[in-house]
Amino acid sequence: MDNATRLQYLEAMGIDVWVPRAFSDHAQTTASDVVADSAQPEPLDSWEALQAEVAPCTKCDLCKTRTQTVFGSGNKNADWMIIGEGPGQNEDQQGLPFVGKAGLLLTEMLRAIGLDREEVFIANIVKCRPPANRDPKPIEIETCKPYLIRQMALLKPKIIVVLGRVAAQALLNTDEPISKLRGKIHTLNDTPVVVVYHPAYLLRSLLDKRKAWTDLKLALQTYKTL
Ligand code: URA
Ligand code: SF4
Repeated sequence: MDNATRLQYLEAMGIDVWVPRAFSDHAQTTASDVVADSAQPEPLDSWEALQAEVAPCTKCDLCKTRTQTVFGSGNKNADWMIIGEGPGQNEDQQGLPFVGKAGLLLTEMLRAIGLDREEVFIANIVKCRPPANRDPKPIEIETCKPYLIRQMALLKPKIIVVLGRVAAQALLNTDEPISKLRGKIHTLNDTPVVVVYHPAYLLRSLLDKRKAWTDLKLALQTYKTL
């Protein structure tokens, strides 16, 4: 296989090949050096490596106003992954997800389906608190999402519960309203995903608590039949 073809294959597989234009047009030897480098096996990802990358991250503007990043917490062998939107004030101060009022309700919701907080893994779409708790912007979501994807790849959860409209739309790449997204099973890489109203919303709108309970039961039933 000539070098040009090999480069095309590497690129098609998503392996970044960077060839300086001045060389790529002329010097074959440079291209083959680059191929040799990028043909090395990709290093395996790890929780430690990911955590070390997230902690000092400055990839989006949310880094300017945060106190600290909130990586996520819980059991790294969990069957259940719970995904929220982003840290609030308490989370920003403590460096842990769902530790404020909404967190207390989340703990209750998990208890209601027989899950201990410590046995699940909890993370957010964005790892830094949006100022004044505004919704994260699309650019912030897109910039931060690769971290969540890597967390999902490391955890390999059996089921994902996603909390609230913003997280659900970001995770499922859709702009459907939450009323359409809840109440059914979605899938992400063959993993079932259930959308549940956000506990912070449920604290304000008690009427939808019943629907949240229905959705939690749907998640539990789905998990039991896996
Ligand atoms: N709301 C979220 O979406 N995530 C948290 O960590 C806390 C509140
Ligand atoms: Fe980095 Fe995510 Fe924080 Fe933005 S929100 S600075 S991408 S960790």
